[in-house]
Amino acid sequence: MSCLICQKPTTSFNYGILSCNACKIFFRRVILGKPVAKCSHTASVPLTCRFCRLKKCIESGMSFQSRDIQSDCATLTKWINNLKVLYAHRKLLILNCRFDGDPTIEELAALPGPLIFQSRPKHYKMGILEWGVLIALSTIDYFKKFNFLNLLELKDQVILIQQSFSDFDTLSGSFKAVELKKAEFLNPDGTDIFLKMDSGVCQVLENNIRCKLVGRMCELKITLEEFLLLTAVFLCNPALSDLSSSAKSILSTYQRVYTSVLLHYCMMTHQQNGTTRFTDLLSLFHSVKIAHQEIRTHYYFCIIQKPNLPFRNMFAHEF
Ligand SMILES: [Zn+2]
Ligand SMILES: [Zn+2]
Repeated sequence: MSCLICQKPTTSFNYGILSCNACKIFFRRVILGKPVAKCSHTASVPLTCRFCRLKKCIESGMSFQSRDIQSDCATLTKWINNLKVLYAHRKLLILNCRFDGDPTIEELAALPGPLIFQSRPKHYKMGILEWGVLIALSTIDYFKKFNFLNLLELKDQVILIQQSFSDFDTLSGSFKAVELKKAEFLNPDGTDIFLKMDSGVCQVLENNIRCKLVGRMCELKITLEEFLLLTAVFLCNPALSDLSSSAKSILSTYQRVYTSVLLHYCMMTHQQNGTTRFTDLLSLFHSVKIAHQEIRTHYYFCIIQKPNLPFRNMFAHEF
């Protein structure tokens, strides 16, 4: 019998499949680890290329269960720290950068490396629309560092980015308010997230968008670790429409892994109330979808009043 990934002789089962010890260790180290550089091999070479090897592991059916992490606190800590590093980088971009240009999601997904931001002069005044663009682009830059995104075909990457970045922005903006102990979601410089319209847009709707999700996250007292794991669970969503079957399978594997990690984390931090905590956190998925609908409705109200509102290519799919 031989390892399904590297073909070396083995008789052991690891993470659900026949695999050698070296491939087992590789998988554990890499699946949620630091970004693995995407290769351009047309035929898979799992023996010499880390990217091909990771892809082969997932295609062969390797996956984590909660019990695989239970005895492995060091790996769990490493994975969470990895998310923290990526998220801290996103924060730095938002605090210090601006972005020139008007790329489409296709162009952003196809970029082989990270996005190029320009540094922002100290007293530069950001407009409301410019904040929206910068935040969205820093989110896309964050997404591009996830190994599972790079494992997808370009077409699937576009679908995933399009259907996920604004929800992440809403969750992240609301989480920021929770961290600052504020009741509402504002821009990073404390300005309102909405453009002022001459005749105003429904106040109730605006207040819902600013406060409802923040209120729910505040009630839950969500922590940074929970926020990062939860948004990773939401991000690798195999149920998005129009994904290819290979994308669905990669995303299912990753969603199972992140879900197991989040559940394990909740059990560790909340002991016998761990599963309740886990369910409460997952319920934020519904809350953010409602917020998304409200934001779209708000946008339509604005467009009716100001048909010439500057429009960015990256938001084209929304409307
Ligand atoms: Zn192997
Ligand atoms: Zn390769």
